[in-house]
Amino acid sequence: MGGRVTHDIHIIGGGLAGSEAAWQLAQAGYKVRLSEMRGSGEMTPAHQSDRLAELVCSNSFRSDDADSNAVGLLHQEMRALGSLILTQGDIHKVPAGSALAVDRDGFADGVTAALEAHPNITIVRERVDTLPAEGRTIIATGPLTAPMLAESIGRATGKDSLAFFDAIAPIVHRESIDMETAWFQSRWNKGSGKDYINCPMSKEQYLEFHAALMAGEKTEFREWENVPYFEGCMPIEVMAERGVDTLRYGPMKGVGLDDPRTGRWPYAVVQLRQDNASGTLWNMVGFQTKLKYAEQVRLFRTIPGLENAEFARLGGLHRNTFLRSPELLDGTLRLKSAPNIRFAGQITGCEGYVESAAIGMLAGRFAAAEIAGIELPAPPRETALGALLSHITGEAEIETYQPMNVNFGLFPPIEGRTKKADRKRMYTDRARAALKDWLAA
Ligand SMILES: Cc1cc2nc3c(=O)[nH]c(=O)nc-3n(C[C@H](O)[C@H](O)[C@H](O)COP(=O)(O)OP(=O)(O)OC[C@H]3O[C@@H](n4cnc5c(N)ncnc54)[C@H](O)[C@@H]3O)c2cc1C
Repeated sequence: MGGRVTHDIHIIGGGLAGSEAAWQLAQAGYKVRLSEMRGSGEMTPAHQSDRLAELVCSNSFRSDDADSNAVGLLHQEMRALGSLILTQGDIHKVPAGSALAVDRDGFADGVTAALEAHPNITIVRERVDTLPAEGRTIIATGPLTAPMLAESIGRATGKDSLAFFDAIAPIVHRESIDMETAWFQSRWNKGSGKDYINCPMSKEQYLEFHAALMAGEKTEFREWENVPYFEGCMPIEVMAERGVDTLRYGPMKGVGLDDPRTGRWPYAVVQLRQDNASGTLWNMVGFQTKLKYAEQVRLFRTIPGLENAEFARLGGLHRNTFLRSPELLDGTLRLKSAPNIRFAGQITGCEGYVESAAIGMLAGRFAAAEIAGIELPAPPRETALGALLSHITGEAEIETYQPMNVNFGLFPPIEGRTKKADRKRMYTDRARAALKDWLAA
């Protein structure tokens, strides 16, 4: 770059997160240099234009229902904090029932025009290849971070800390698992003896399940997604193709597990491992898959104990660059080993357009407060912003950390027995009260 520094902060990446972070900082009165490689002759494998905040796939910001849906609540909180992404989303809304869907061209044009017109923002079309050693910086280069920068980040964070592709197993809400059928036990009673939830299968059930896996409809990989599988995160349907017993001797083995209803080891088992500290979310062990979403729901609900399973996220497999944030980032998204650098967006391990923008918003606000010499407390965990942030910056299990959409499983549980329909409203009412207090403070 060279020359006299004329900005307060450098943001790298003008996607959903970088655009929102730039807006928040500029609105707070700080000078932003926003580097975006598209428009300089570079492109990612998924983007198609040089517009900022381009939506790479669907045009939906998902549910806009702030009373009973966690992402709808996140929309509401972001609107309350002056989000550029939500403002432009609302302006370019298209009919989509209770969802917020947008005209993707109008939306990206709107975001680009707003940032270009802002007197505090300088947009530079350039690819950045190394992590800046000094100067306040926000890295928001997304799941498709250009390879040289990804390598530089990898060197700064430790080689194993940057995942280059994403093998995702489904995550289930604990309260939707039938514990009359499933039981808590670790294989051979290791650890606490009760670390896993086990869903048993008889021989007939296993054979049927195996056949259904083989027949299930899979999503096709795009050419650029055609990365080799690591043995450690092979999709279950690929394992199933290797032979009828491969799964039964792999992730579905029943040995060392005593089904309390029979006193015997089950023929096969599906194990779930705790995925967050509060124990509201459980990860299906070894069940990374590229089955289509509807197919996953249909098939996994045939597993004994999961007949009524509610999924916090479904499985998937695509190239993705994300940090082991719970280990590497502090509570305000700074790299612990180099606090001049913040990360924002999907590279932190949140998942989704709205979540990426939300984390960009928080990174921008934390940075603005830091420049002003003010300590900005994190939004309370009862809010959608706070629940997502705390998942990323410490609450999630480090070993199994995977990109995550916002969902009520990330919130502190509502105590006591309540009807499911009422509980959602209790989460969102509690969140609104907590956000109000936070904003007032
Ligand atoms: C193929 C695919 C499909 C997806 N589909 C959806 C979906 O349908 N719905 C959904 O909610 N989420 C989806 N996501 C997930 C995610 O929400 C989006 O990827 C979202 O755009 C992430 O926001 P971001 O700001 O973190 O990254 P991005 O929006 O990708 O922005 C990152 C920006 O950084 C730039 N950049 C990268 N490297 C450099 C560099 N070295 N120097 C300068 N600039 C750089 C890129 O050009 C890009 O503009 C999808 C992800 C992928 C990969």
